[in-house]
Amino acid sequence: MAMSPLLIANWKMYKTVEESASFARLLGPRLEGWWKPQAVRLVIAPTSLALFAMARHLGDGPVALAAQNLELGREGAFTGALSGYLLHEAGARLVIIGHSERRRYFAETDGLVAEKVDAAWNAGLTPVVCVGETEAERDSGQTEAVLKRQLSAILTKPRDDDKPLVIAYEPVWAIGTGRVAKTEDVGQIAHTVRQWLSTSQGPKDVPLLYGGSVNPDNLGGFLRLPDVNGALVGGASLTLEGVVAMVRVAQEQI
Ligand code: PEP
Repeated sequence: MAMSPLLIANWKMYKTVEESASFARLLGPRLEGWWKPQAVRLVIAPTSLALFAMARHLGDGPVALAAQNLELGREGAFTGALSGYLLHEAGARLVIIGHSERRRYFAETDGLVAEKVDAAWNAGLTPVVCVGETEAERDSGQTEAVLKRQLSAILTKPRDDDKPLVIAYEPVWAIGTGRVAKTEDVGQIAHTVRQWLSTSQGPKDVPLLYGGSVNPDNLGGFLRLPDVNGALVGGASLTLEGVVAMVRVAQEQI
């Protein structure tokens, strides 16, 4: 499905507010004159603390911001929680949901991920839902079953045009490890997920991203896969050089 490549930088718990703001300040000039934002979409997911400061620098420009998580509800007595509404007000337009680190360290279940997807839509945010198998699940041949389980809670929901969705396939064993999934394996899994999407309710133009040790050298191989529409990138997105190089690689693919 022809969709302009979408690159999402997941900064996790890295970079201070000042470092994030300075990145936002420096990014524009580095992309100016050659980046075609309608051809390659770029999203940065800093810590929630840095959203507001980055939004002030990025303004209404083409670089969008994402939150890395949200909590359910709008407001209330939930100490420490940040709702989608607050994140939207701070500048986020997308939100990563169900990242394997949240599933693992914060015990997020498929049911909670599905509730968070609804919360994102209610707040006007595009959910970027992460799915992926662990190494043990892969080795025991369960990859497809795991992905089906993780996605079914979301794909069975009624979804119309005002409920945009992004799916990121991120094999857990490839995240932050330098071990990249084989492009042919990703291509086959993406094809299967694309088939599930075609029979699900709602718009079919769901960008399907690959994530897991992506860098400027291997990105092109994933973007050339017919069912992959972009990448969710952690470590390699922490430097300005890394982001600029990946935008360049993505733009060269089209
Ligand atoms: C991620 O944070 O989702 C990720 C894929 O990280 P990395 O690119 O570092 O593997």
